[in-house]
Amino acid sequence: HNYTKNDIRKMAKDHNVSFLRLMFTDLFGTEKDVEVPVSQLENVLNNKIMFDGSSIEGFVRIEESDMYLHPDLSTWMIFPWSPDRGRIARIICDVYTMDGKPFMGDPRNNLKRVLKDMKRSHFTSLDIGPEPEFFLFKRDRDGKPTLQPNDSISYFDLAPADTGAICRRDMVLALEDIGFNVEAAHHEVSPGQHEIDFKYSDALNTADNIQIFKLVVKAVAKKHNLYATFMPKPITGINGSGMHINMSLFQHHKNVFYDPKGKLGLSKIAYYFLGGILKHARGFTAIGDPIVNSYKRLVPGYEAPVYIAWSPSNRSPLVRIPSSRGIQTRLELRSADPTANPYMAFAGVLEAGLDGLRNKIVPPAGINRNIYRMDAQERIADHIYNLPDNLRDAITALKHDPIMKRALGTKLFNTFITAKTFEFNSYRLQVSAWELKHYLKKY
Ligand code: ADP
Ligand code: GLU
Ligand code: MG
Ligand code: MG
Repeated sequence: HNYTKNDIRKMAKDHNVSFLRLMFTDLFGTEKDVEVPVSQLENVLNNKIMFDGSSIEGFVRIEESDMYLHPDLSTWMIFPWSPDRGRIARIICDVYTMDGKPFMGDPRNNLKRVLKDMKRSHFTSLDIGPEPEFFLFKRDRDGKPTLQPNDSISYFDLAPADTGAICRRDMVLALEDIGFNVEAAHHEVSPGQHEIDFKYSDALNTADNIQIFKLVVKAVAKKHNLYATFMPKPITGINGSGMHINMSLFQHHKNVFYDPKGKLGLSKIAYYFLGGILKHARGFTAIGDPIVNSYKRLVPGYEAPVYIAWSPSNRSPLVRIPSSRGIQTRLELRSADPTANPYMAFAGVLEAGLDGLRNKIVPPAGINRNIYRMDAQERIADHIYNLPDNLRDAITALKHDPIMKRALGTKLFNTFITAKTFEFNSYRLQVSAWELKHYLKKY
């Protein structure tokens, strides 16, 4: 919606809004907000709301701590579940510095920058459809999350009293209430694991959607006395949770990945874009899979990718090309998980793809065999390499990828690497339960 300031004033009044939640996303993908009473509406609309940036991890140094929130009026939304007395509306904001410039440590500002660059290459939009997966766990008597799934069923199973399905339907209804177009919602492979897919949209809008999606999923789970987690691999030995990224490029209303005369119905643009995605797959991994636990998911045997390859059909490789053509022609990148900061992840895939286009990077041949059955020699012969298998290697790969630096911009790139190196080192110092179990008595 292209709301004007007057539209907002009117909606706030007509719907009796009492509180405004001014939202933005930090480096770690966590949604933050500053809440103000509606009496502050004029200040909000005139970009006058300030906050202390130094209180946000990965944002700013103490000396430059005052930051301004500039509301993106198109993101105005009244939370339908807020009480009649004390109605809440949200507006997503961009973070600006004291001297009125977009703060480049703000991932949303950065994505806007990258999208502007894309438009200079005559593409109208990068469209993204995400497939976020999550677990529903029971809570204990104190309301704390346990690791006990709320059911013991699996993909497409029907169970008589499926409390997970009841809760999931409630999530879908809440999402539809705020304008989501939910295309599919189903149980996933693991007990307690679910997926809700919503219709693709341009990258910025989808990133905004993912942030509110997580909030809704968690809130509805809580209402059902369950805990929803987007942690990629909460339980050893069963499927983890990914967030596949379906993407396509549009020129006006034309999906330029589609070419009925091209090989497999794909255009040259699609192949070069794919070439770029594969070339930067290692550098991108720290962005798409940003936490220590992400790498417990990227292991063989659980439908998550380990090797850099693509396939027109097979689900094991990093990039799959779903069979629909026409407007739905798309690449599906399967490595990313829901802990990725969506603004950073979409900037990353876009720059990788554009690099492929600029440099006409031809992707290697698609693989139609199960890569997990090939041995190392066969993989080398077919030029199939590994994704990084831990956060430290992923950070190193990111550091050495100038296109990923271009995607994040110097400021985000540097603060991200510093923060993630710190995170990995903190993990590395911990003695784990596995070590104690295997070594304490043996040595
Ligand atoms: P899977 O088979 O992996 O479960 P789906 O075929 O259900 O995945 O893919 C679903 C996602 O793909 C949805 O979010 C959908 O909106 C999205 N999608 C469809 N067409 C496009 C497109 N042109 N660009 C980006 N995403 C798209
Ligand atoms: N849960 C799997 C993953 O970790 C994906 C399953 C699927 O293909 O939807 O990526
Ligand atoms: Mg899935
Ligand atoms: Mg998928």
